[in-house]
Amino acid sequence: MTEHHIDIAIIGAGLGGAAAMALLHKAGFKAHTFEQAPVFDRLGAGIHIGPNVMKIFRELGLEDTLCNIGAHPDYWFSRDGNTGDYRSKIELGDFAKSEYGAAYVTIHRGDMHATQISALPQDYLHYDHCLTQLEERENDVKLTFANGNIVYAKLVVGADGINSKIREELLGVEKPRFSGWVGHRCLVDMNKLAASGLDFETCTKWWWDRSKHIMAYATKNDESEYYYVTGVPDEPWEHDTTWVESSRDEMNATFGGSHPVVNALIDATTSVTKWPFWNRDPLSLWSQGRLCLLGDACHPMRPHMAQGAGMAIEDAAVLARCLSATGIEDYTSAFGIYENTRRERATTVQTVSNKNTWLKNPEDPAWVYGYNPLTVPLAG
Ligand SMILES: Cc1cc2nc3c(=O)[nH]c(=O)nc-3n(C[C@H](O)[C@H](O)[C@H](O)COP(=O)(O)OP(=O)(O)OC[C@H]3O[C@@H](n4cnc5c(N)ncnc54)[C@H](O)[C@@H]3O)c2cc1C
Repeated sequence: MTEHHIDIAIIGAGLGGAAAMALLHKAGFKAHTFEQAPVFDRLGAGIHIGPNVMKIFRELGLEDTLCNIGAHPDYWFSRDGNTGDYRSKIELGDFAKSEYGAAYVTIHRGDMHATQISALPQDYLHYDHCLTQLEERENDVKLTFANGNIVYAKLVVGADGINSKIREELLGVEKPRFSGWVGHRCLVDMNKLAASGLDFETCTKWWWDRSKHIMAYATKNDESEYYYVTGVPDEPWEHDTTWVESSRDEMNATFGGSHPVVNALIDATTSVTKWPFWNRDPLSLWSQGRLCLLGDACHPMRPHMAQGAGMAIEDAAVLARCLSATGIEDYTSAFGIYENTRRERATTVQTVSNKNTWLKNPEDPAWVYGYNPLTVPLAG
């Protein structure tokens, strides 16, 4: 067993925790991050990086790498799943760069996360550290990990996802609520799709009744890898795993007999998994004492705006700015300003994302993509 005294502990090195660590170090804070996983897998899934988030990656020097790895959709199309009629065409590509200040990229989330992780100061990143207990004391917080290590931190950032231990400490034990929806995730080999002779747009959301949908997009710069994620109303989730295997047959039963492009996606499906979408209502507090929350620990949402990680990374940027402004001794002010600056935006995105209406019909996405967490006024 080892014991350490540190200034800032981040719990969780997911997309939000990794961003928080990088931004805090850039701001001069030697934050340590404790991650329960012994190693990260390249989970088979894609993710969108909106211009609002790419501005943060620019600040961290990761923009070029991510732009070189990921795909660059010229549009986010919304189409009717049966007829293929266009419901909306949201311009991205060069328009996103000039209008919103950065590129819009779709990418494999493992590649995005690996890019974030590799840029971190590795001596401060501690794998195989599952937080099991915390105790707030007069001058610090005592953190106990499953491996027996103990750390005393002046501040603790809970970036530990929807089942956050830090949220539990602040607000009590409460399981997240099943939203009634699941998503299937599938990586598809573009060569298989190309054999169909059809045109696969770089980023399209296909819609059916009740807003059931398939979001399909490229995850590599050369568009050699294609990915789809669905949203489907489903029975209560009764598995005790975070996901289960699905199948081409299940996809056919749910979406088969639709537009030829959709049918080709299903035909090319080899391995597909099914994930429940969990949810919580907006939390009554984001911080207390020496503890604060960010990302899914704080405002989980159904993923239909492709902005859940975006909000986690925006949180990280604003939190780092607040701590820079006040210094860590005045963490009460920093956490207050952080919540005042972030709550309204994160809650609005959470609400719209849960409604699953985003870009279904023509609308101006500037309020999401044009936001700059590095310059937004801090609401002190
Ligand atoms: C199907 C689907 C598609 C999505 N698509 C998009 C998209 O396109 N764009 C987008 O922006 N978002 C998307 N999201 C949402 C996004 O994945 C989440 O919002 C995001 O991962 C949240 O990041 P986080 O860092 O807050 O939490 P997480 O990514 O969940 O990370 C939490 C980390 O904490 C660690 N941890 C947990 N408990 C402990 C503990 N006790 N001790 C130590 N470590 C711990 C975990 O191992 C994990 O590494 C999608 C989500 C889903 C389900």
